[in-house]
Order: sequence, then C-alpha cells, then structure tokens
Amino acid sequence: MNPTAAGRRLGQLAQLDVAVLRGVGNRKRAALGQMGISSVLDLVAHYPRRYADRTNAVAVGELVPGDVGVVSATVRLVSLRRLRGRRSIVEVVVDDGTGELGVTFFNQPWRTKQLAEGREVALFGRVDCYRSALQMANPVVEVIGSAEARQTRRIVPIYPQSGRAGISSIELARYVTEALERAGEFADPLDEPRRAAAGLVSRTAAFRAVHEPESTEETVLARRRLAFDELFRIQVALVMRKRTAAANARGIAHDVEATRGGVRLVEGFLAALPFELTTAQARVISEIRVDLASSEPMHRLLQGDVGAGKTVVALATLLYAVQGGFQGAFMVPTEVLAEQHHLAARVLLAGLGVPDGRRLGGTRPVTVELLTSRTPAAARARLIDELAAGSVDILIGTHALITEEVEFASLGAVVIDEQHRFGVDQRAALREKGSAAGALGHDPDLLVMTATPIPRTAAMTVYGDLDYSVLDELPPGRSPVTTRWAADDVAEAEAWGRVRAEVAAGHQAFVVCPLIAADAVDDDGLSLVAADEADAEYDDGRLFDTEGLEVERRPPRAAVDEYARLAAGELRGLRIGLLHGQLRPKDKEEVMVAFRAGRLDVLVATTVVEVGVDVPGATVMVVEDADRFGIAQLHQLRGRVGRGGDPGWCYLVARDATAEAGRRLGALVESNDGFYLAGIDLELRGEGTVLGARQKGRSDLKLASLAGDRDLVELARETATSVVAADPALEGNPLLADELRIFVGDDEAEYLLRS
Ligand code: ADP
Ligand code: MG
Repeated sequence: MNPTAAGRRLGQLAQLDVAVLRGVGNRKRAALGQMGISSVLDLVAHYPRRYADRTNAVAVGELVPGDVGVVSATVRLVSLRRLRGRRSIVEVVVDDGTGELGVTFFNQPWRTKQLAEGREVALFGRVDCYRSALQMANPVVEVIGSAEARQTRRIVPIYPQSGRAGISSIELARYVTEALERAGEFADPLDEPRRAAAGLVSRTAAFRAVHEPESTEETVLARRRLAFDELFRIQVALVMRKRTAAANARGIAHDVEATRGGVRLVEGFLAALPFELTTAQARVISEIRVDLASSEPMHRLLQGDVGAGKTVVALATLLYAVQGGFQGAFMVPTEVLAEQHHLAARVLLAGLGVPDGRRLGGTRPVTVELLTSRTPAAARARLIDELAAGSVDILIGTHALITEEVEFASLGAVVIDEQHRFGVDQRAALREKGSAAGALGHDPDLLVMTATPIPRTAAMTVYGDLDYSVLDELPPGRSPVTTRWAADDVAEAEAWGRVRAEVAAGHQAFVVCPLIAADAVDDDGLSLVAADEADAEYDDGRLFDTEGLEVERRPPRAAVDEYARLAAGELRGLRIGLLHGQLRPKDKEEVMVAFRAGRLDVLVATTVVEVGVDVPGATVMVVEDADRFGIAQLHQLRGRVGRGGDPGWCYLVARDATAEAGRRLGALVESNDGFYLAGIDLELRGEGTVLGARQKGRSDLKLASLAGDRDLVELARETATSVVAADPALEGNPLLADELRIFVGDDEAEYLLRS
C-alpha cells in the first residue's frame, strides 16, 4: 500500500492546542475544554449536528397563514415588553428581501440578546395571521451568522454546543474554518486505488465538506468517509489483535479422533443423548472440532437464542479436551445455573469413561465437579487438591473458578456461558489458568457463549477478534411463547387467571420481580438488588409531570412481598415457592429441586431465573414491573417457559411505562426472535452500551452507527483484512499505526504494533 504520506497527520493536530487559533483566548479555551475540545484534532472532529439548508427556505413574500416552514432572514427590529408578574413578550421583525415577518416570543426575555439586530437567522415554525399581518410565535431559532460576515454558503453547519460553555455555533464554525485552512492537505492512510475501490472521498475532501459543504450530497459523502475511518481503525485493531494472539499463542492440538486413549468420549456422549442434534448444533460442534484439533488456540463466540441448545455444544467441547487427557472448565454467571449445569452434566455424562492407565481395564468414569463461592471450605480444599492432581475432568462453577488457589493440572478447554456477564479480565484470568499456572504452559481453547445475540455487524465490531458461530435453529417441538403486555388491572387479572388455569392443567409458572425485598437496603440506604441478579440495563423509569418536574415512582415490586401477597390473594391455594440470591444455598437448592420435580406450582423469583434455568413443565411467566428490564433480559426470562412442547405464555406487567419502555415491551409482544430483538435494542440504545463492555477506543464512534451503517462495517472489515494481510505490522503505513495509537489507546496499540 502506498498511502498519501505527505500532508497533515491527525497526530500533529492532536498535539496542537486550540489556543493556537485566532480568537481562542483563555476564556474560549476553557469553554471549548468544557465541550471536550482541547486539541485542534478534537475541534475538526467535532462534527455538525445538522445543517441549515438555506436553499430550502421559503421566501417571506410567499408565505400564507397556516404554512409550516423554514424562513432564512435578517433581524431588523427587536423589542422587549414587560407584562404583569414576571411575564414578558419579545417582538422581532425579520426581513429576507422579499418581505417582513413578525416573530413573537413569550416569557423568553433572553431572546433580545440572541436576536440582535443584523443577525442572520433560520426560523422554523408555523405562520399565523395576527392583526392582519403574518407572524410566527415561538419558532425554533438558529442563528447562522451576522450580516456583516454574511455567509456566502447556502448550507450552514449547526454544531452541537453546550449552553453552559458559552460558545456559539458560529464561533465554532469560524474556528473550524481557520483550523482547516491552516491544516491544508491531509495525509491519507488509504491510497487512491483503495479509496476508489471503496467509493470513498479523500480525507481532505471529507473534512472540508463535513464542515463547509457546498451541497447536501457532499455532506453525505463526507460523513461516509469519516464514519468509515472510525470503523476502519477499530477493524484494523481487531484484525491485528487476532493475528497477534494467534502468533503468540501456544495452543493444544486436541485428540479429537481419540487415537491416543481409544475412548470416543464425544461420540459416546452424543449417542446417549435423549434427542437428535439439530442441524445447527451438529454444524457448530464440527466447527469447534476443527478449532480444537488445530494447534492454534480457539477463540470462538457462539451465539444462540434462548433454548437453542448451547449446553450440549459446551459439554461436547469440554469432552473433546477430556478425551485427549486434558481438563475442562465451564464458567457460568450464577450459582443456580452452575448447579443446574452440574446436575445436567452428571446425568448426561453418567456411564462415560476416560482412559486411565492406573486402572485395570484402563478407564474410569468422567468426573464432573461443582465449585461456587458457597462451596463449603472442606469440600473446596479437597476439590482444589483433586484439580491440581488431575483427577477432576470437568469443573463447573461461577467466578469462583478464577480465584487464585484454583489450579488445574492440565486445563485444555474453557467454556464461558452468558459471556456478557463477565468482563474481558475475567475471561483472560480463566484462560491463564492453563498457560501461566498450568504445568503445560499452553493456552486452553476458549468458547464463549451468549444468548443475547447482537446483530452481525455489531458482533463484528465488538467481538471482531473472535471467530463466530451461530445456533440459528431451535430444537423441534418448541411452541412460540405468546406474550402480552398487561398495562392495567384487567390485563393483570388475566395474567393471574392464566397462571391458575395452567397450574390446573398440571403445568407450572414463574413470577419474576425486580427486587428481592422492599426493605432490603444497603449501607447507603439504596434499595438492594443483588449484584449477580437484576443488573437492570435500563433505568429510564423516570416520570415527569406537565411542569417537567420528576415524579416519585412507586417502588418496584419485591419477590418477598409478592410471594406473601399472591399466596394470600390471586394464587391462594397453589403451592408457591420463593427463590432469590440471598437465600442460603441449601434453601435455594431445595426450592429449585421441588420446583423441578413438580412439587411446587409457582416459583416467585428474582432474575436468578434469567439465565438458563430449565424446567420443561413451566408454561407461564408473569414479569412484574417489566418496564424495569431491558429487551435482552426480558427475552432471556421469557425463554424459561414453553420449553416442554406445550404452548407458553408470558405476561409483562407494566402500568406506567415510559414511551421508551413501551417500545421495548411492544417489541417483545411482537417477536420471539432474539436476533430481531437485538437489532431493535441496538436501535433504541445506540452502540454505547454494546461497545461499553470493551475497552476505550471502541466507544469512540462519533459518526458511525452500528445499527445504521452495516454496509460500512463490512467494508471496513474487508479493507482492514486486506491492509493487514499485506502489511501485518503496518511498517509501510506509519500513518495508520500512528492513528491506532491516538484512537485505539496506547496500551492496545503497543501490544499490536510491537513486532
Ligand atoms: P440454551 O441454548 O438456552 O442454553 P439449553 O442448552 O439449556 O439451551 O437447552 C434447552 C433445552 O433443550 C434443554 O432441555 C435441552 O436438553 C434441550 N435440547 C437441547 N438440544 C436439543 C435437541 N437437539 N433436541 C431436543 N431438545 C434439545
Ligand atoms: Mg444456556
């Protein structure tokens, strides 16, 4: 690649303080700082929020009452009239050369300052007839310049500005113009042939046109190039990270053919399953098998909707490792889930043997153990010894697995379930159990699983350093869950009626509440939601009255109270259990066992049941205060019902949902498809939360949108792959290397760029 190396580098602009610009003194410098603009790079990357297009303005002389439109004109007269009390009227006359228009503002005396005589303004509003003259009342105003410095451009950038900072859009435009003039031509990390192939304008053209466009088409092309650059830098970092990880790693070539021990553990396991694998499961297991057999360590993300059957895939992965004489670790986010997986694994793996040279007959049973923070000290000590001695094959547990004392004899494969619950650090810590602590000094293969799918292009951006498999098929015989949003008493009564009817038909029900107990408060007096439970993604449950003041909300329903209330009320006579994270482990287990065995009809719980809890007899779920939860979380919760082949029901009880919560609930009512819902979630929430999980630099998308720029994400990926393939250490493109340091973060860049 032969990029345009001559020209201004972004790195140089990052070094220049905004104070070098004319008109930026101490006061303006501080004000810009408040807006997050301290270098000239920050300034030119402060993009317009939108543009006032004067070409769309309506001539004042052509306005008729009732028109709603934009007028672009000069302020001629401004006057303020004080009325009784603290009321006032500002009256303004504007003129665009074709006629005059009166504009009035009620109780906004500051308008006299904003609309000084001679200013150029754009007014958006409705035209009325008042005392036989045309006027606009309380229009939206944008000041676009002053008559003295009359802007010749037809399209004027409107910058995001913080009112408090005291920098106007006009001032920003002036600083940017100066910065661009002095910067001159920009160096471009993409050469002309690559730009042409990707349909991208030059960086110089893009920076100019985003700030000083001649036409709307220019703004579109400029945005496309600058958004591409944001995504491209991320993809270059991810592609490099993937290559670097592969180059530095010492993986294990697992004995997937079982040539050494001769025991075909995985085949035995799959043959003993009470069902046939779905096509998707079989495909994913064979993808993983290829990874495992290779001496490069696996880094694979498995996405599969709720109920798609990820656990079987996880166990098969671990068993491939065990079959070759290694150990496997399965880390899950909650104790309930760890216990359930442990129980299921014991059943599914019963009767399977692993080669054991020390025994007569050469095999011993596969051993599966459970470790959580609640494992009693003595059992824990014994377990830790056995792990280090290698007599435990598979360890299932919570983050207790990554505590220091836990050492494996030969960790060969790691599966992390519901990976969004764990940080990057925790993942790394578990993998290091194989390399640093392990005697072998090898990197175990890693499979991370998630039932909260994110759209492909978002996954490409967030997890672009991982390989990617999808379970896009549910096992046969599942009935879709019918979802209702219960917004009032009548609808809620229907929900409880359904619970009683399903129980009468021999089925079971979940009732999920956002809180454990209403009076459970922590040291700071904040209501307590156990950390591993409802880490509610949304807390937009704020209500405002007509004055814009915040209204105190009814506290959310708590499991402990609902348990008592329902037992005495709507669900009287039914066998009801209570489950939450603060129960003693013994009690928790008792409740779960009783519910699974059908000795309880209804389980009132917190979101401990969110992840993975599998009770085929449960057909109905009532989620209380459902507006407190995010889309992904509700979809997860709902996935707990309808697993047994009978139709499932889910009632989302939410009385005073905000508009945004309403859109989430509506989406759940409309669709059962996790991937579709993930797309909606991304649109509603933006990329911040998706990206927030990963480190700095990734969340630095100013123009690009993962929901809206899918094609650009793909283009950036393809371009990055080809650029890095041609020049793995970016030696021929110091410009790009430099930009990675600025945008992706020094640590990461150092890691990637040291050869
Ligand atoms: P998830 O992907 O949500 O973790 P699970 O692994 O818990 O899903 O599987 C959900 C249920 O489906 C379990 O009861 C499991 O035994 C069952 N299951 C998994 N695969 C199949 C299959 N191929 N056919 C029928 N049932 C299956
Ligand atoms: Mg699961």
